[in-house]
Amino acid sequence: MSTIFSKIIAREIPAEIVYQDDQVTAFKDIHPIAPAHILIVPNREIATVNDVTPEDEQMLGHMFTVAKEIAQQMGITESGYRLLINCNQDAGQEVFHLHMHLLGGRKLGPMLARQD
Ligand code: 5GP
Repeated sequence: MSTIFSKIIAREIPAEIVYQDDQVTAFKDIHPIAPAHILIVPNREIATVNDVTPEDEQMLGHMFTVAKEIAQQMGITESGYRLLINCNQDAGQEVFHLHMHLLGGRKLGPMLARQD
């Protein structure tokens, strides 16, 4: 089964792709929650962080290098940004194809809302 992100990576459905190489693809989130909201996605389908293996370690590190370069291109290196990966239900993961959110361009507030 191909995820919606695999279809974007294969350019079968449209997205604003900002970076692509043989390991990862980065594109604009369809419902941005910040002026900069990019998803960095492994080209290979990995459902969640629970499914990563030691063989993925180089590619996972590469995701950070790509995130840093996109942040530079977007001019948010100095103002700051947040990298975030949701895993499963309690984190609110919606698309079961591992992805890193790159968020910036405004003050992002506390990392988590308090429950009280
Ligand atoms: P999650 O909650 O799984 O961490 O985040 C999934 C993200 O994917 C959401 O921010 C959502 O807006 C984005 N998204 C879902 N479907 C599409 C799509 O078809 N195209 C793009 N560009 N983003 C999508």
